[in-house]
Amino acid sequence: MTTGVAVFGATGSIGESTLSVIEEHPDRFRLEVVSAHRSIDKLIKVIERFRPRHVILTDPSQEEALMERLPKWFEGSLAFGENSLIEAAKATEVDVVVAAIVGAIGLRSTYVAVSSGKRVCLANKEALVMAGGLMIAEARKSGAVLLPIDSEHNAMFQCLPETYLVGEQIAGLRQLILTCSGGPFLEWSIRDLTRVTPAQAVAHPNWSMGRKISVDSATLMNKGLELIEATHLFGVPESVIDVVIHPESMIHSLVEFVDGSILAQLSRPDMRIPIAHALGFPERLRIDVERLSLIGLSGLRFEGVRHDVFPALNLAREASAEGGDRPIILNAANEVAVEAFLNDQISFTKISQITADCLHQIAKQTVSSINDVLSLDKMCRNIAERLISERK
Ligand code: NAD
Ligand code: MG
Repeated sequence: MTTGVAVFGATGSIGESTLSVIEEHPDRFRLEVVSAHRSIDKLIKVIERFRPRHVILTDPSQEEALMERLPKWFEGSLAFGENSLIEAAKATEVDVVVAAIVGAIGLRSTYVAVSSGKRVCLANKEALVMAGGLMIAEARKSGAVLLPIDSEHNAMFQCLPETYLVGEQIAGLRQLILTCSGGPFLEWSIRDLTRVTPAQAVAHPNWSMGRKISVDSATLMNKGLELIEATHLFGVPESVIDVVIHPESMIHSLVEFVDGSILAQLSRPDMRIPIAHALGFPERLRIDVERLSLIGLSGLRFEGVRHDVFPALNLAREASAEGGDRPIILNAANEVAVEAFLNDQISFTKISQITADCLHQIAKQTVSSINDVLSLDKMCRNIAERLISERK
């Protein structure tokens, strides 16, 4: 029996890596569903190479463009619009959902996959940042298993007893140590950072990723989002999580226990490794990746974060400590500000300032459902957009 996989966001960086892992194991996985938003060229290539049974195009305005290019032999089904993701997340043929859409827009489909009791291999960290509490509670109810693809969380997962997956406290844990490459501007001054261009910000030294996460990695907001992600996945407060700069990205995170032992997971920076781990778990899948040479590891570096230059991480830490609505505001403001930076509307250092201003301006609200989360997200986006246009 093969496992039916749905890849939401199949044309992205994580989506492509996932498809290449699946391609290496046709005896194990069948590709049930792929989704793309509007990148028709990439979607056609995915259809031709991987022959999925069901194709979703979430931006319906691109329907005609897809129909014109669809190969004649394609016998699968097609669906258009965001709601098609919801249907696919519930479908009985789908055993595993790989949540690889970027940003808050991925929340609802990820949540429905969790409610439907699927194995959810989670790349879309924003979903967990916004609604981690609701998502974990729903997984406990439905029996869904939530496995992290984010390399740091996957590394911690590999170092922890599996019982954490069913909500047991991690016995003997002292701290989780989240490693951070530091991004492309590791040693830059604040003054130089004000002049950063989008092209410089998306050029990550170790990883090839989508544009949004690349900018997040450059501001260190990515590490902030990951800190919040880790609190939910592993059921610990932010105070138990330390962040250490490790520019080579070979150690993907570490776990320290009360007896002084530290466990780490190492590999070359290649997202196919955590993806294969989550897809195959509890088995190990053989994949064709470049092996890590230990001799080459003699120069590994570790250092503290320069919080005065990169304020985003502490914004996220504070939002996590306060909890409730704060991480939703943090995430929404950051998404809007990153987009504005990529469109040359604000400078690089303004990304964190806009996020801080939104957190400051928006009064506390109670959030108790996914609909509450989404309406606060929307409100916060409007405020962030207003702040950006006022600053222009
Ligand atoms: P990407 O930009 O390369 O791909 C995003 C995917 O989402 C594409 O398939 C796109 O079609 C789809 N998409 C975009 N807008 C959409 C919309 N409005 N509705 C539906 N689908 C939409 O991004 P990525 O780098 O693959 O990142 C995906 C997620 O994985 C992010 O949440 C990111 O934080 C996380 N992640 C990525 C990496 C990485 O190495 N790239 C590592 C860890 C975590
Ligand atoms: Mg990561």
